[in-house]
Amino acid sequence: MAKVISVKNLVKKYGKLIAVNGISFDVGQGEIFGLLGENGAGKTTTLEMIEGLRTPTSGSIEVLNCDIVERRDAVKERIGVQLQSSAYYQFLTLREILELFASFYAKNISAQKLLKLVDLEHKSGSLIGNLSGGQRQRFSIVASLVNDPEVVFLDEPTTGLDPIARRNLWDLIIKIKDQGKTIILTTHYMEEAEILCDRVAIMEMGKILVMDETHKLVEKSKFPYTITFIDKKISEKKLNELKKYAEVGNVFGKESKYFLKIKNQAAMTDVLKLVQAINPESLTVGRATLEDLFIELTGKQIEE
Ligand code: ATP
Repeated sequence: MAKVISVKNLVKKYGKLIAVNGISFDVGQGEIFGLLGENGAGKTTTLEMIEGLRTPTSGSIEVLNCDIVERRDAVKERIGVQLQSSAYYQFLTLREILELFASFYAKNISAQKLLKLVDLEHKSGSLIGNLSGGQRQRFSIVASLVNDPEVVFLDEPTTGLDPIARRNLWDLIIKIKDQGKTIILTTHYMEEAEILCDRVAIMEMGKILVMDETHKLVEKSKFPYTITFIDKKISEKKLNELKKYAEVGNVFGKESKYFLKIKNQAAMTDVLKLVQAINPESLTVGRATLEDLFIELTGKQIEE
């Protein structure tokens, strides 16, 4: 796979604070690459250095085989950056904003075609402030496509949206990938990363903790299998039996909701028999998620 982005030993310091601390990674053509991490991990700083909006303290970044610091203008024509909706002109209509942006580029796509892509043709004469949150997010993504870019940067594209609006945006992001574009995104939603991203890097305090294909990362969890069940408080004896095969806890302190983390398939079979013997009110058998791995690695919950 051809390399579209190559980051080497990237560092960004703000005074004494090291926001990005020597990270390296490549992104291949046509990939969706996700940067995850808690607030302040360094995701936006990393993204904005790759976009050419912030200057690295040290290290190198190549985008489409150009050094971003030296050839920012050449790269700018070929990338698309999603802006927060507050950054748009509030007194222009959607069509006018897209036409204005298009005028900055040699190559561009018509406002009508872009608005059609996100089902906002009927809003072409509206001001951005008159859109719903979901419509605004859709517009901000499509506005990043005005120059038909080869690489698209999305910083928390679905934050604050309801589940349906979020899924609509996932469809849009997949559509963009299907056009052969490369996408780098940041997100706080583990489920989103698991569904969308081909590869993921989890950052903490400016460093990359782990990076791999998304499904392989999940397999790295110490406890790949899970069982959740609901029952009235179970006896100490039964609890101890379960503990022989699994880590046992209560889901967010709820006494009747138990969460079991299991190391391998053999233990899964044994523990399942024990749980079934309890005859619980509800039982869910599953596998670890990216969120489980994230919590395992960082000891924190990302959406908090
Ligand atoms: P979030 O999920 O909250 O958006 P993030 O992972 O994107 O966080 P960054 O915005 O990259 O994190 O910030 C990384 C660190 O750098 C934070 O400690 C932040 O306070 C600091 N920082 C970011 N921008 C600046 C700046 N312009 N000046 C000084 N410090 C900054």
